[in-house]
Amino acid sequence: MSVKEEILEQQAEESESLNMYHSTQAVIHEALRKLGYGEAMYELLKEPLRLLTVRFPVRMDDGSVKVFTGYRSQHNDSVGPTKGGIRYHPEVDEAEVKSLSVWMSLKCGITNLPFGGGKGGIICEPRQMSLGELERMSRAYVRAISQIVGPNKDIPAPDVYTNAQIMAWMMDEYSHLREFDSPGFITGKPIVLGGSQGRETATARGVAIVIEEAARKKGIDIKGARVVIQGFGNAGSYLAKFMHDAGAKVVGVSDVYGAIADPNGVDIDYLLDRRDSFGTFSKLFTNTITNKELFELDCDILVPAAISNQITEKNAYDIKASIVVEAANGPTTMEATEILDERGIFLVPDILSNAGGVTVSYFEWVQNNQGYYWTDEEVEQKLKKIMVDSFENVYKVAKNHKVNMRLAAYMVGIRKLAEASSFRGWV
Ligand code: NAD
Repeated sequence: MSVKEEILEQQAEESESLNMYHSTQAVIHEALRKLGYGEAMYELLKEPLRLLTVRFPVRMDDGSVKVFTGYRSQHNDSVGPTKGGIRYHPEVDEAEVKSLSVWMSLKCGITNLPFGGGKGGIICEPRQMSLGELERMSRAYVRAISQIVGPNKDIPAPDVYTNAQIMAWMMDEYSHLREFDSPGFITGKPIVLGGSQGRETATARGVAIVIEEAARKKGIDIKGARVVIQGFGNAGSYLAKFMHDAGAKVVGVSDVYGAIADPNGVDIDYLLDRRDSFGTFSKLFTNTITNKELFELDCDILVPAAISNQITEKNAYDIKASIVVEAANGPTTMEATEILDERGIFLVPDILSNAGGVTVSYFEWVQNNQGYYWTDEEVEQKLKKIMVDSFENVYKVAKNHKVNMRLAAYMVGIRKLAEASSFRGWV
């Protein structure tokens, strides 16, 4: 039985996040095999080098104490320090954090950044916490993980339900612990604390660049192209705006509670104006459709930009788009990827299409280390070059090796880690 077959058999019994983790390992195995690496390299790269689990008490507003569980996973530091976001969500678990850290390594490999992948998370429900509780929890988490993070060790950033304010509290806490100002400890900060121009919109900007490249390859004109986007948070909302500004028609968008659709294009500026800080807007409307129906809408380009496991074997046959661009991490299962391939739908994988976020996070870290700050135009120009080159590189590998874009992206992403690990004499 091949590694892939073994993994598929195990998956029937597993949780969603473990399933996702094992799918990732299966693609890593295949990518390393195609690149000519053996089992020892797979053993090294299939798991993070380090996973810290922390439990820490936080005083809540009503005077009670709640003990939270958090994680920090560092996949591989052969190329440089590890880097990756921190997620606040009730469904955070060990397997999810580990998968996300592996994907961060692959993204840094694809975009040729001098980092390996890291990721963190806290099991919590931030939408039901006050600002004071969020601040105390964020500071306590930094104290709990402070031994293994730092500007030259592991650099966190925002992810789902974390934002610039939370990064600012974390930077402040870390700076107190070290007794000197440490802006390079974390990225995604407010501009006044050393944040980079363009970081807020970077992920969406990167996805928009990749969509243009993919559309060009498939002979679709962005002007007038019909786009559907799931999720209206940081990634989805700015992407909707960029697509609209580029002349595309955003015919459907959603949040966690529902979706709205309009074949003539939804009013993006109205939604941007009225959505809340968690990216929700659908409660403003009565004529909503479900997230399930959103995926079945007639369109040219479909962008899952919310959470994982959204395109599965159950709905992959209903998708009408000819291009799927993954802005979210892990939105398509392994089985669904195969169905989309069979149906000739061009899929641009997450580790390529949403790498704009980590790219501008890297720019932020460089600027913090130099104490010299770039303009918005400089950031945009440098981001564009990296995203276009990365897309072209992955596309070329896909064509040359006759593999899909996901496997090609894994091959490009993992190669750098494998080479660095070999040169260091680890394998
Ligand atoms: P966010 O928290 O700002 O927004 C999430 C959006 O998804 C909200 O509109 C929310 O209502 C919606 N949503 C949540 N659960 C949903 C569900 N079950 N069904 C439908 N919609 C749901 O998050 P974000 O930062 O925009 O991240 C979205 C995705 O993009 C995540 O997978 C994240 O890992 C990925 N990503 C984000 C960045 C970044 O810089 N923000 C970078 C790389 C990847």
